[in-house]
Amino acid sequence: MSPPVFRFAPSPNGYLHLGHALSALLNADMARASGGQLLLRIEDIDATRCRPEYEAAIYEDLAWLGIEWETPVRRQSEHFTDYRAALARLEAMGLVYPSFESRAEIAALVAQRETQAPWPRDPDGAPLYPGDAKVMPAAERARRMAAGEPYALRLAMAAALALAGPLSWGESGAGPNGETGIVAADPAAWGDVVLARKDAPAGYHLAVTVDDAGQGITDVVRGRDLFHATSVHRLLQALLGLAAPRYHHHRLLLDADGRKLSKSTQSTGLRELRTQGINAAGIRQMVGLA
Ligand code: GLU
Repeated sequence: MSPPVFRFAPSPNGYLHLGHALSALLNADMARASGGQLLLRIEDIDATRCRPEYEAAIYEDLAWLGIEWETPVRRQSEHFTDYRAALARLEAMGLVYPSFESRAEIAALVAQRETQAPWPRDPDGAPLYPGDAKVMPAAERARRMAAGEPYALRLAMAAALALAGPLSWGESGAGPNGETGIVAADPAAWGDVVLARKDAPAGYHLAVTVDDAGQGITDVVRGRDLFHATSVHRLLQALLGLAAPRYHHHRLLLDADGRKLSKSTQSTGLRELRTQGINAAGIRQMVGLA
């Protein structure tokens, strides 16, 4: 059996904080304990929020934590052709459609539907896609695309589920309600998710699925906030004929108010803690790793 392959996949849209340190150190510890490799992936699809100085800081902060990773590092912005190829496969299966609505239009549609009954939310609390772009007449779709109107590409969830059938994954960590072991995937909870953003040939779910397979990842270790997203990843893996990694979702570090740490909370930023004279061993202690 070939050795396990782990990955840490930060987005360079801010400086790393203690939550990232927990995730990166756990990946490094688990890779070492299993004689596996640790890969690093820079998730820089969102060109409006990602900056080169944040990417440079990621390398600096990880090295300071004593983490070693294989090179070359994979950057999502260099793999747009891979995402386009995956999209083309899903399109050929009849599972993709364009939706032209703006955020404001979607919000208005949800508000309109909520005058009747509560509109369903996804596991992150965002309303499911309320539009009917899926049934837009082909001629109108063609006209709007030809006119250069921006559009996102969405997964036709019901058709995708019918093709893929029931799915599950192996979880060695736990979900928000203690889910562990063999977990049944529930991609329907996400509705017609975005596969490709208006401004990029991929969104988070498609990129992460294609990248994990492309990098030969056998073990995904990440925060519990991404537990439910795994359902979408399992569905895309099944549709694209990709192997499923093992999953381990770890606890989240919370701030004093019980909220998940964010990149804007300076006090838990690794650079900030470093200037205060805290060392890598101190960070391990702060995140609760022996
Ligand atoms: N890029 C994501 C983040 O910064 C992590 C994606 C993943 O681990 O699947 O939260």
